[in-house]
Amino acid sequence: MKGLVVIDYTYDFVADDGALTTGVAGQAIEPALVKVTEDFIAQGDFVVMAVDRHDIGDSYHPEMKLFPPHNLAGTKGRELFGRLQELYNEQQDKIYWTDKRHYSAFSGTDLDIRLRERGITELHLVGVCTDICVLHTAVDAYNLGYQLVIHQDAVASFDPVGHEWALKHFKGTLGADLV
Ligand code: ZN
Repeated sequence: MKGLVVIDYTYDFVADDGALTTGVAGQAIEPALVKVTEDFIAQGDFVVMAVDRHDIGDSYHPEMKLFPPHNLAGTKGRELFGRLQELYNEQQDKIYWTDKRHYSAFSGTDLDIRLRERGITELHLVGVCTDICVLHTAVDAYNLGYQLVIHQDAVASFDPVGHEWALKHFKGTLGADLV
């Protein structure tokens, strides 16, 4: 069985005026990312939105020292970007939403057990950023024994060097299929 995790494709990470945006690179993957999500839904496969959630003034969070505030609870920054938000509105009952607090969609969430309940062994990843949240999710998935498939036209980063490095790492070190 296979499942899809759509990582952090939100306003703050993708829109021109998002708080921590991948900008044009993130916007360019929208058609491919939406198509993969639609295909998984149409086939009845498990689809997860894994979305960063931060609280204003959370001084205990390590990201506070690293990045400007982003994906704050209750703000537009945390809404899905563009067509993906529409798709979510239409197909909410077929999509599992998980808030995450760290880069990895597995950190502090019930994602692993949700996947195991469904007998899912092949995990497909799309979203942003290739070299941060997608990477950390992929590493955790690898360590948990999932076979990875990365949709390379549906991941993006604000750092082109980091993006390319991460794609090589997925394939050469995590044994992922790049499609
Ligand atoms: Zn964050």
